[in-house]
Amino acid sequence: MKDGQLRRLRRYYQLIQQDPYGALDPRYTIYDIIAEGLRLHKLVSTKEEERELVYKMLTVVKLTPPEVFANKRPNELSGGQRQRVAIARALVLRPKFLVADEPVSMLDASTRGQILEFLLNERDQNNTGILFITHDISIASYVSDRIAVMYLGKIVEMGTPEEVIKKPLHPYTQALLQAVPVPDPDAGIREPNIKGEIVSPVFLPKGCVFYNRCPFAQPICKEKEPTLKKIEGDHYVACHLY
Ligand code: SF4
Repeated sequence: MKDGQLRRLRRYYQLIQQDPYGALDPRYTIYDIIAEGLRLHKLVSTKEEERELVYKMLTVVKLTPPEVFANKRPNELSGGQRQRVAIARALVLRPKFLVADEPVSMLDASTRGQILEFLLNERDQNNTGILFITHDISIASYVSDRIAVMYLGKIVEMGTPEEVIKKPLHPYTQALLQAVPVPDPDAGIREPNIKGEIVSPVFLPKGCVFYNRCPFAQPICKEKEPTLKKIEGDHYVACHLY
């Protein structure tokens, strides 16, 4: 696409970066960080309208009173507060598609719940598609319509939360679920059933990327890379066992 076409589309494709320390320009005030997109995409015609929208977003992400936070710079905020600014900056443009890379990992438990609810609300009200990247499988099952489990850059299993969490098929997904702590002191420690170390992503092996750690590996797994296969419904797995 040409620059002009891309610029028009960018409003609809937004990103919440994982590291809120690197994501915000330290020279800008919080107000300008959130307002910049509105100005670039000409979404407001007056200063009053702009201020109203910026303050509203600050209130939504619980940075209140908004007029106080608007005048601060990123270095005056905690990691969690910066993350909320990054979320406000992305959502003020009402994107159609949002890539959210660990958006709540820097937040405390109570704020995490509020922000997740807010993102889900945004998804439902504005029909925003969210690609939510997380290491926390319980959050994944809470926010997702579909989950894709990745290992070394490859999707190894995909399906609805019901399918992937309740009936995991891939040995890596099974190990991930075994590693989730159970809040019961009598449950004991469950060791994931995998061995060895993750291989270098630069020198990927020829066959299955999980071969060196898999307790069920077969000779074919070393030679041939498994492709995603539909098992039933919306459930796909890349493994020679199926
Ligand atoms: Fe294990 Fe083979 Fe399946 Fe890979 S393809 S996950 S090595 S059984």
